[in-house]
Amino acid sequence: MPTSNTCVKTGPHSVAMSQIPYPDTPGPGQALIRTTLSTICGSDMHIVDEMPIPGGVPMGHEAIGIVEAVGAGVTGFKAGDRVATSCLLCCGICARCQEGDQSVCETFNAPGNLLFGAQGEFFLVNGAQTSMAKVPDSLADEQVLFVTDIMSTGFAAIERAAIRPGDTVAIFAQGPVGLCATAGARTYGAGTIIAVESIPERVAMAKRFGADVVLEPGEAVSKIMAMTGGKGVDIAVEALGHQVTFENACQVTRIGGTVSSVGVYGAFPELKMPTSGSFIHRKLVTTLCPVGTKRMDRLMALVSGGKVDLTPLITHSMKISDTPAGYDLFRKKEGGVLKIALRP
Ligand SMILES: [Zn+2]
Ligand SMILES: [Zn+2]
Repeated sequence: MPTSNTCVKTGPHSVAMSQIPYPDTPGPGQALIRTTLSTICGSDMHIVDEMPIPGGVPMGHEAIGIVEAVGAGVTGFKAGDRVATSCLLCCGICARCQEGDQSVCETFNAPGNLLFGAQGEFFLVNGAQTSMAKVPDSLADEQVLFVTDIMSTGFAAIERAAIRPGDTVAIFAQGPVGLCATAGARTYGAGTIIAVESIPERVAMAKRFGADVVLEPGEAVSKIMAMTGGKGVDIAVEALGHQVTFENACQVTRIGGTVSSVGVYGAFPELKMPTSGSFIHRKLVTTLCPVGTKRMDRLMALVSGGKVDLTPLITHSMKISDTPAGYDLFRKKEGGVLKIALRP
């Protein structure tokens, strides 16, 4: 069996490169992908640092690559196609998939529906027929990498809050997903976008992606209330996954408004609902990354149409074989790191 040099979890807080065997011929419904561009995600930190997932798991779930081979039943793709692969896999035929909620596919049950191994030279995609999308020749890998996960998640935070043109939107935390939510708010027609962030490089990126004002976390609640005449915003997005940002998002949401939570509360055994005074008469929506071929096609259409450009999120570049060093960099959030491009 051939092997792929792939980043694997070796234990709590630790990853290393390892030679992972893969089949020459993918199984039914699978595709074998040769990675051309991959990256590290905040979810990887949760998996490695916090979740009781045993060592040996191949890491990585956001990638663009070339189809090497497809298994039986995969008719939409052939060797040589350049594809984006959904971070969550879907079958396309179960009840949830048919009703348009592919990220909770019943065939590939969570957490087994996460794509694994994309931080490697080669990886396998289950449910390939509906979990991949061809990348138009006109678009570079870097332009479409984020349709596999964080663009879809960040944009969905705005979509699922049922934004209306002119809405005032506050977005708590401007990490990669929060920045995508900011870009999404602009794309979908927010009137005013208020970002909350303190890291200088992220503040600058928030403004570049459409934030009208960026507030320090400690003063965000009082300033947002003052800016909105004491009423609060139409939509508040929580994009960090902390109790305090969740409470702050609830506090600044107007009566009848929507709290949209996309943060991964991975380190916390429970999330406490805030006091009724700041929560009653608000709507709460949570979003897991919408996935599947058509979802990625739509996001790529926004990119190819010039409506959004997320390539500035790529702040660092390294070889796939150096991925473990990338984890250290990403975890420390130093040097202005947002997303690290990993290439063969
Ligand atoms: Zn991810
Ligand atoms: Zn399904």
